[in-house]
Amino acid sequence: MTPETLARLDRAHLIHPVSSWRDQEEHGPRLLSHGQGVWLTDMHGHTLLDGFAGLWCVNVGYGQDSVVKAATEQMTRLPYATGYFGFANEPAITLAARLAEVTPGDLNRVFFSQGGSDAVDSALRFIRFYQHARGTAGKRHVIGLARGYHGSTYTGAGLTALAAFHRDADVPLPWQHHIPSPDPYRHPAGHDGDALIAASVSSLRAKVAELGGPEHVAAFFCEPVQGSGGIIVPPRGWLTAMREACREMDILFVTDEVITGFGRTGPLFACEHEGVVPDMMTAAKGLTSGYAPMGAVFMSETVYSTIRDATPPGVAVGHGMTYSAHPVSAAIGLAVLDLYQGGVLENGVKAGAHLATRLAGMKDHPLVGDVRSAGMLAGIELVTDKKNKTKPAASLGISKKMSKAGYEQGVLFRAFGDDIIGLAPPLTCSVEETDILCDRIEGVLNTLMDDREIVAAI
Ligand code: PMP
Repeated sequence: MTPETLARLDRAHLIHPVSSWRDQEEHGPRLLSHGQGVWLTDMHGHTLLDGFAGLWCVNVGYGQDSVVKAATEQMTRLPYATGYFGFANEPAITLAARLAEVTPGDLNRVFFSQGGSDAVDSALRFIRFYQHARGTAGKRHVIGLARGYHGSTYTGAGLTALAAFHRDADVPLPWQHHIPSPDPYRHPAGHDGDALIAASVSSLRAKVAELGGPEHVAAFFCEPVQGSGGIIVPPRGWLTAMREACREMDILFVTDEVITGFGRTGPLFACEHEGVVPDMMTAAKGLTSGYAPMGAVFMSETVYSTIRDATPPGVAVGHGMTYSAHPVSAAIGLAVLDLYQGGVLENGVKAGAHLATRLAGMKDHPLVGDVRSAGMLAGIELVTDKKNKTKPAASLGISKKMSKAGYEQGVLFRAFGDDIIGLAPPLTCSVEETDILCDRIEGVLNTLMDDREIVAAI
């Protein structure tokens, strides 16, 4: 089909995820055609450096033959196998066992979902099962972070704290609560890491007290680096302090590593930066590098065995999906894990260090208020007044202007609102490609400076 026909059919029939339906109908889609390495080509032959790895998921880059081969072989041999009724398949078992070796501490038990949202939703159900199993069913409340993102199921959207996901959706649910984001740039205590950590711990304690004490609180959920909230990198020590506070209060500490997992911030999991072992952890995206859908919930031996032991013999733990532990996704997961361990993680660390250096060089740009990164995950925060950290007015339309400029200049990134540029290139990005990415981002920032309205607002 021609791009024009596809665009017409798209406008007429396809509902896009997290998109303005009006804009979609008005402007139609950007049609991508193929990818190789960190490069994408659209249906008009325009080449783009994918600075966002699809949706922060294609960590091993496009066109990895070993992954395609693993998927093809598995599809040919056995394209589907249920995990119900005691059935299993070789790639799913092998992947579970290999992941148990590389996940932090005793997170040795894994439930495979279809993506991140249902991994979070599954984790929330397992948390509930666990509290019932221990005889502490009164521990119902779950606390997350402001600006957190945990998916688009009802429970995930409720645990999320971003306005667009709450609008007209009757969430958060009555048992879901939030404490302030540990944002070093905008938190009142942010300029001092220790003060920010202390403030976060005391917010958590205060929220628990407000909910009636630890006997009413089941779990605290966080992203080790907040992604969709605007790439927020908490100070070092924050994760450890929150983990310890949860341990003291007998509250499950759950990390959502859907973005940060699989090398995005350097090590395989972001918890490893501080040697933190959560009680449960969710992952997706980099698990299969986006080559097929799959997510995961990892749980500690304690959480697992408590649920197991409280379930009478022969009675099913009533949770699962048709596509749980899908063999093709699992085969892809194994091939992708080989790539991570075969040099991709190392390359990500090297390119991430270079990315941080280049970002530091952007700090003096008149529109840049803050730059931050953790490995190959980075944010550039734009302001129109550096001293007062003034967010650009919506009327300036910066988000649309920079997305347009980026596309024209051959770079894909994500604009969060009108003020944050998110970068998450494939971990396979070379240092030279990282330079091209940063040159093009600087090009976009300079294009904004050609806009008279924007310059007048500075
Ligand atoms: N948790 C986090 C931290 C995420 O960033 C995302 C997706 N961006 C999700 C959960 C939901 O994952 P999915 O889109 O695969 O359902």
